[in-house]
Amino acid sequence: MEIFLLVVIGALGLAVGSFINAAVYRLRAGKFKSILTGRSFCPKCKKNLAARDLIPLVSFLWLRGKCRFCHKKIAVHYFIIELTTAVAFLLVALFGASGTESLLWNLFFVSILIFIASFDAQFGEIPDEVALPAIVLALAGSFLAFTLAPLTALIGALVGGGFFTALVLISDGKWMGGGDIRVGLLLGALTGWRGFIVALFVASFLGSVVGTIQILRKKKKLKSALPFAPFLAFGGIVAILFSQQICAWYLAYLLP
Ligand SMILES: [Zn+2]
Repeated sequence: MEIFLLVVIGALGLAVGSFINAAVYRLRAGKFKSILTGRSFCPKCKKNLAARDLIPLVSFLWLRGKCRFCHKKIAVHYFIIELTTAVAFLLVALFGASGTESLLWNLFFVSILIFIASFDAQFGEIPDEVALPAIVLALAGSFLAFTLAPLTALIGALVGGGFFTALVLISDGKWMGGGDIRVGLLLGALTGWRGFIVALFVASFLGSVVGTIQILRKKKKLKSALPFAPFLAFGGIVAILFSQQICAWYLAYLLP
């Protein structure tokens, strides 16, 4: 891919990451209607921010992570989300399915997954306002054959949603919640049952590594739940990018 195009997609990723930060905050604050139109302000001192305070990554570093007006710390997750979105966009451009429709489709859903991950990491729940339309859209998009065939998407959604429904029922909602069912439906509809298994595997692995580290550093107790959606979202992005290669590699390894 051309360098110029990559620079544009990277910059788009930074802008979308910045938008995700604002949208998560506004959705949580119940200002759903102002997601597109509202002005950004400091959550601490409520002063409106100027354009120069809203440049992704740069403003955060320039202001050394502090508000220009009240000098209180800006949460570092703003920075992390912007950077993550840009990196994910670049990876999708470099390694995702080729073709303009597939590229735009994958960029859109990577953004949705990062939104859901950020919301869950901060507030411990999955926003229905975003997750439910995304599931419908992922299934509908398969009829336009953006990435998956409709039957593959439908089976994927059933497997993904069914898996977490079973876990919720077995554990009486202690291991997983209703939000995880929605994320399972979405990932299955986006990547098929094979992709879902890849996502689940990556998420479980990462989740247990991070969980163990937190227990060792005594930040969390053994029983306290870690939000799982950020790991699932990460696994989902890996599946969007590499599930075909991973499955082919696994099958070749299993059946020499
Ligand atoms: Zn402030």
